[in-house]
Amino acid sequence: MSVESDTSGSQHPFQAEVSRLLHLMVHSVYTEKEIFLRELISNASDALDKLRYEAIAQPALIETEPRLAIRISVDKAAHTLTVADNGIGMTQPELIENLGTIARSGTKAFLDRLSAEKDGSSALIGQFGVGFYSAFMVSDHIEVVSRRAGAPTASVWISDGANGFTIAPASEAQAASVPRGTAVTLTIRKEDDAFLEASRIEHIVRTYSDHIQFPVELVEPDGSVRQVKAASALWQRSKSEVKPEDYAEAYKTIAGQFDEPALTIHYRAEGRQSYAVLLFVPSTRPFDLYDVGRKGRVKLYVRRVFITDDADLMPSWLRFMRGVIDSEDVPLNISREMLQNNPIVGQIRKAVTGRVLSELEQFRDKDAAGYETLWETFGAVLKEGLYEDFERRDQLLKLARFRSTAGGGWRSLKEYVAALRPEQADIYYLAGDNLDRLKASPQLEAATARGVEVLLLTDPVDSFWTTMAPPFEGKALRSLTQGEVDLSSIALVDTTPSDASDTSDVGALIAIIKTALGDQVSDVRVSKRLVSSAVCLVAPGAGPDLALERLLQRRNESGAGLKPVLEINPTHAIVKSAAARAADQRTEDVAEIAHLLFDQARILDGELPADPAKFAERLNRFVLRGL
Ligand code: ADP
Ligand code: MG
Repeated sequence: MSVESDTSGSQHPFQAEVSRLLHLMVHSVYTEKEIFLRELISNASDALDKLRYEAIAQPALIETEPRLAIRISVDKAAHTLTVADNGIGMTQPELIENLGTIARSGTKAFLDRLSAEKDGSSALIGQFGVGFYSAFMVSDHIEVVSRRAGAPTASVWISDGANGFTIAPASEAQAASVPRGTAVTLTIRKEDDAFLEASRIEHIVRTYSDHIQFPVELVEPDGSVRQVKAASALWQRSKSEVKPEDYAEAYKTIAGQFDEPALTIHYRAEGRQSYAVLLFVPSTRPFDLYDVGRKGRVKLYVRRVFITDDADLMPSWLRFMRGVIDSEDVPLNISREMLQNNPIVGQIRKAVTGRVLSELEQFRDKDAAGYETLWETFGAVLKEGLYEDFERRDQLLKLARFRSTAGGGWRSLKEYVAALRPEQADIYYLAGDNLDRLKASPQLEAATARGVEVLLLTDPVDSFWTTMAPPFEGKALRSLTQGEVDLSSIALVDTTPSDASDTSDVGALIAIIKTALGDQVSDVRVSKRLVSSAVCLVAPGAGPDLALERLLQRRNESGAGLKPVLEINPTHAIVKSAAARAADQRTEDVAEIAHLLFDQARILDGELPADPAKFAERLNRFVLRGL
């Protein structure tokens, strides 16, 4: 009895999220339960990767047992299946931390989605891949015996997946069976005992874990060990040996993503630098895409040893890429900090970036629809390269796709330039945050009347790169909300004579508006871009365009501080009658109209009136007068 209390260990509750997840696992009707084995093998492989890295600095960690492998064994009588690795192992605090909480962002996102969707939860399990806890789909008793590499003692973690877990020092027999690393033993539920069949296990390993770079072995009933999968890193194989489904599975493990890759890039570079590359463009946005660090997650291996996924192997505008670069030349004992400035890493980054761009070009030329989907998903990130990477700007401009007034689909600049109107010298764009509102912008009117296509840019990043974009095929990019834009040399599409010449003298009107609006505007002038609307706002020629100014204001509450210009349309009925009143010196009336028109212009741009209460008051007054 007293022996018992020695090893009974301490009881720990699961973090609330884990309990939720486990409840789901246990009651899951998810049919592809077999993925639990993929998850356990993938954890074992990570543990072996980590050990190999630590052993560079501390060779003693690996010397006692230099052969790294994953070993699966079953005990049919006991209904158990064990996945063991001789990797890095876990200390007792690590067991508590890693197998009692949820750290992975993917699993967090999974739980968020789960709260959002009432049903369909079981399909989500497959989409997100829920790691270690998926083992509770086939088991209601799991024991994890683990010994951190180099540690004298081992610990055991036990859970039924419902009432938390216990942690205890491993018994002598358990400790002896795990000289280094981790053994995960599942007591398989009766209805799932097919997973105890060697043939089934072998099939699962082949299907999901063929790309793992460590050997996977199966212990036969007679105790002999058979290798079911040889050690070989998928990226080191030649392309012709790899099946598409192998890539898809490798993507899941390497990227930690559970969608399908939209594009797979696999090649070997030889020459000044030798390295193997296996990169994927995901088909959905990774969860950390807009993290503040804007860091990529491509893994650096050196001669098949995993070093880090934090080496900035890609520029931040390609941070959605996932995969592996395995270098023959980077020194193995380089510290992770030193990698930042390593010239070999710098050269690899440059060369691989070039290759990724040319692969994107090929994809664009081969599969236009697929490319557009990719652009829809990651275009906003790729466009960051337009202002961050001077050398790649021209190439990126050719890859870029845009919404425009030409229709609902995506347009390239090449298509835009091919459709220029006679006399049109520039590429016009309008930036803002909502496509529908942009389409209805008064600033578009002159362009629309002349059949001039306008790019409609709705990503925040658009306001930045456009300010420094190089000309495309000799055509400059010009914002329709900045400075004076004069399209009058381009012929009107609709040739029915307009009353454009029927303008009133607005000199007196402009003077009154200027006084009324004061420093809310930097100028008031006659517009060359309005056709049917009465007024619109634009930015003065010197500063950022209207969208950028607003964005800056939102971000740091100051912006460039330049007030907008109010443009008025002298052919519009309201402007005309205001001009007549101005000529009659009815200053007060005209000032009221000025405020209303100014607020109207703000509303058309998606802003609030300058003073909403006064706006309502004025509007009511005019409505009453008209009734
Ligand atoms: P993930 O692998 O995405 O981190 P998991 O739920 O699969 O999430 O595993 C949780 C954590 O448990 C891992 O990050 C790792 O720290 C630890 N772990 C799981 N299995 C092992 C193992 N065989 N060896 C060492 N650590 C492990
Ligand atoms: Mg895992």
